[in-house]
Formats: sequence, C-alpha cells, structure tokens
Amino acid sequence: AVQDTGSPTIFDKIIAGEIPCNKVYEDETALVFHDVNPQAPVHFLVIPKQRAGLTQLSNARAEQKDILGHLLFVAAQEGQKLCPGGYRIVVNDGKDGAQSVYHLHLHVMGGRQMQWPPG
Ligand code: 5GP
Repeated sequence: AVQDTGSPTIFDKIIAGEIPCNKVYEDETALVFHDVNPQAPVHFLVIPKQRAGLTQLSNARAEQKDILGHLLFVAAQEGQKLCPGGYRIVVNDGKDGAQSVYHLHLHVMGGRQMQWPPG
C-alpha cells in the first residue's frame, strides 16, 4: 500500500483511452471496467471520470455527494447484472486501507461465495 502523491494515475490513461480496458459500462459521470488482477471470478471497478480531488473516499467534499451516490448506484446496477447471486462492494481508503491507485474507485466482486470477515 502506498500514499497519495496527487499525481495523475493510470486510471486517467484508461479514461482517455490511452490504455485499453475491458469496459462494462460508461455514462457521463462513471466508467466501469474489469480489474486487471481480479480477486474473484467477477471483479470490476467503478470510477468517476473526473477525479476532481476524489483521490480517495475520505477526500470527498459535500458537493460531491451526488457523484458518490451515482457511483454506488451504478455499482449496484452492474453488480446485479454480472453477479445475480450477489456481490460485494469495497472501497480501499488510504495506506492502511490497502489503496494503491489514488483515483476513487469502488471494487465490485462476485461470481463465487464470498467469505466474511475479509481479513
Ligand atoms: P486499490 O488497491 O487502489 O483499491 O485497487 C486498485 C485496483 O486497480 C487493483 O485491484 C488493480 O488490480 C487495479 N488496476 C491497477 N492498474 C490497472 C489497470 O491498468 N487496468 C485495470 N483494469 N485495473 C488496474
């Protein structure tokens, strides 16, 4: 796990189309694509197309609540499509949260029986 440097991340290149991704869904606000290193049979990421200071969840500002709600809604919509038996949504926040890419993203994982606690 690393800390935020404020620099653009690899997700900016994915949004710009400079690095390919396996896209699940896209709208004006959100981009959804499969994780390159899946931790479950289905594992995709939901990200805001404009980082706008949203390097991590704890940096969200009050005026960004609508974006946060939209990302969670999109995660649920695509989660039930790709994981009809259920799914898990995870946000890693900061160093102790094991965050590695400092552009907010929701992990959606499923396609198998998940375990709890995750460790
Ligand atoms: P974090 O640890 O920050 O919560 O999660 C970052 C996620 O982004 C990891 O699961 C990692 O596999 C994924 N990831 C990193 N680089 C790329 C990439 O270039 N393409 C895709 N599709 N996923 C990536």
